[in-house]
Amino acid sequence: MIFTDNSPLTVLNQLYGYPAFVGEQEKIITHVLNGGSGLVLMPTGGGKSLCYQIPALLVPGITIVVSPLIALMQDQVATLDELGVSAIYFSSVLDEETNYESIRKIKAGLVKLVYITPEKLCNQWFINFIMTLKISLFAIDEAHCVSHWGHDFRPEYQRLSVLKQHFPKVPRLALTATADYYTRIDIIHFLGLKDAPVFATSFNRSNIYYSTLEKNNGKGQLLSFIGKNKSGCGIVYCNSRKRVDELTEFLNSNGINAINYHAGLASDVRNKNQTEFLQSSTSVMVATVAFGLGIDKPDVRYVYHFDMPRSIDHFYQESGRAGRDSMAAISVVNYGFKEIYELSQMVLNSEVSDLKKRYELDKLKRMIAYCDSLVCRRQVLLDALGEKSDPCGNCDLCLNSPNLVDASVIAQKIMSAIYRMQQRFGVTQVIDVLRGRATATVQVWEHHKLSTFGIASEYTEKELRRIIRQLYSQGLLDIDFNTGALKVNAKSIPVMRGLEQVWIKATALKVAPEFKQLTWLRTEQEERLYHNLISWRHQMAVRHKVSHHAILSDRTLREI
Ligand code: ADP
Ligand code: MG
Ligand code: ZN
Repeated sequence: MIFTDNSPLTVLNQLYGYPAFVGEQEKIITHVLNGGSGLVLMPTGGGKSLCYQIPALLVPGITIVVSPLIALMQDQVATLDELGVSAIYFSSVLDEETNYESIRKIKAGLVKLVYITPEKLCNQWFINFIMTLKISLFAIDEAHCVSHWGHDFRPEYQRLSVLKQHFPKVPRLALTATADYYTRIDIIHFLGLKDAPVFATSFNRSNIYYSTLEKNNGKGQLLSFIGKNKSGCGIVYCNSRKRVDELTEFLNSNGINAINYHAGLASDVRNKNQTEFLQSSTSVMVATVAFGLGIDKPDVRYVYHFDMPRSIDHFYQESGRAGRDSMAAISVVNYGFKEIYELSQMVLNSEVSDLKKRYELDKLKRMIAYCDSLVCRRQVLLDALGEKSDPCGNCDLCLNSPNLVDASVIAQKIMSAIYRMQQRFGVTQVIDVLRGRATATVQVWEHHKLSTFGIASEYTEKELRRIIRQLYSQGLLDIDFNTGALKVNAKSIPVMRGLEQVWIKATALKVAPEFKQLTWLRTEQEERLYHNLISWRHQMAVRHKVSHHAILSDRTLREI
């Protein structure tokens, strides 16, 4: 391929036919051309491949691209083929002869890009072989596979640490759409990128309006929300199959076209329901998290979490299924105290290491903090993804600052009661003591003899729950998830001594948002990215002979 000059932009224009780079592409490419390593964090569809393909074409030698899956390699090689770029892939399923032919081509200097799985690459024979060649770059795609914190853990990815030892001078470019802090640390560690820059593109979904609703007659709240947003379709997520079936029936009996989806349904029923949803523009899909992976319906106008999602990462993914068409969309989380217990039990009962449990509880806590936040919700969400941002101006908290009340006195009372009860009891017993209700448990433990007995009798049980939940969300109380017991902590002490004030939301936000009232304009860059994504999706759909709705991400491609 001959270009009029050797600049990245010329290659972009003349080979790919695109007018301009998006996001950080140009910066990354220049950095790699200068021999630098780096970590690229970019959302799916952001244009990661060009970050290593263009340097591959502009420097002498071979670029090795590590990829976890054959489907992904095949697609990239086919695309490059169409462009007239010589690329090949190795995988364990190819026969000896094909592999031999590929090796011959490489030796003859006929190949610019080699796609390979980490297993094949880290094979001693292969390492020895490529040591005899001129390697210009290692691109490690889907680099999150290196970390067992993330989804898609692939132990073989950790063996890639040999690259730095054997090829200290060759730049390594790691790329992923998983921004999570812990995953990032693992990538940097295993791929030897301690001194390399991180190129991060924002993960913000600016067309999604984020909001939460405190649970107070969940079904009624859902019905009123859907009633307002009837003209668009949406997804309602629940944490259990039973609740999915119950809600579907409830909605249908209220004249709403609701469809259910969970792993407990027969696969033909699931497929039928999924197809029905994909084709409809007004129906409601009620589902567990089993629904969504690889589903890309562009016009989902809202994602309504009937129960609190199990972690902030899950929430980001699930709410992100709204508004793929870049038009205004809504995320609602309906939440309450009960779910904090339910979800923490789910984590504790799961069969993973204690360390991983702690990590997941941390992610759950961030979700709880999101729900009860007093500041911009998008900021809390992006912060959890490792991204700093300014208040967004397009979430419920930015648009209606909550009415705060001074809760210092009741907070002191609650904390004293917890302390006097020796930090061994859950929310129900603490509330009984505060309200002066001598229930059986309270009597057995002689709590009715405590000085804190009945000191908050003017509050209802619901009010106290709400206050305790907010104290917990603000980090002013702890919950021992193993026993359910409430505990005071270091941050409680200044409050108990009257040295610090506590503010909480006075009343629950009552109005659910309506997407028709939301306005949102795409920036030029968002517009371009959106069109890229759509055309790419169509290309893939044709290649894989499936509906373009089924093509969403690299992840989907693997499942086809
Ligand atoms: P990722 O790997 O980040 O998910 P890809 O590299 O597969 O994304 O790119 C997604 C789509 O965007 C592809 O069709 C690609 O050709 C297109 N694309 C990438 N960069 C640009 C650009 N600068 N201008 C227009 N389209 C682009
Ligand atoms: Mg990719
Ligand atoms: Zn905001």
